[in-house]
Amino acid sequence: MARMIQDWSHKYQGEVFKLEKYIEEYLFKDRVQEFIGEYSNGEGLTIFDLNVPNVMVSDSCGARVGAQTWVYKKTGEAYIEISSWMLEDINEAKGVMRHELSHYVKEYCGLEGRPHGANFNKVLKVVSPRYFRRDRYWRNTKAIEKARLKLHPFAKRDTKLQCSFAGNCLNIV
Ligand SMILES: [Zn+2]
Repeated sequence: MARMIQDWSHKYQGEVFKLEKYIEEYLFKDRVQEFIGEYSNGEGLTIFDLNVPNVMVSDSCGARVGAQTWVYKKTGEAYIEISSWMLEDINEAKGVMRHELSHYVKEYCGLEGRPHGANFNKVLKVVSPRYFRRDRYWRNTKAIEKARLKLHPFAKRDTKLQCSFAGNCLNIV
């Protein structure tokens, strides 16, 4: 089902440009391409063309959702929608990009399983071998938390559990 997204990408052009370059760099790393090659030649045939996901910014994907991925299977288009408050810390935003790119690669390779299940972890390890543990979650730095609470005043301040990606981090449409 289509969803209206308030797109703030024009306001964050510099960040968007930087993050799209970052995604492209990761997607075309040898280890990621080798991993993709193994699956696209095997049983897990890909059903859409490989694209570098576009980055778009919305005010918020949700009180707990740093970013979410959209994959349009018919056309192969993919978007990574990042919450504006996540851009308050570019390093955290990059971690979120590695996480979301892993969702995309998992779908591209036709790997089954839950959005954050074993196959997701497998891909995340390939995309982000050094940081795969921390890339499972985003972190609320001071700046992120300030911006997040401005948009979600009723979101509770504490608890690490809040910094998890919600189950709806991936949307196949
Ligand atoms: Zn996720």
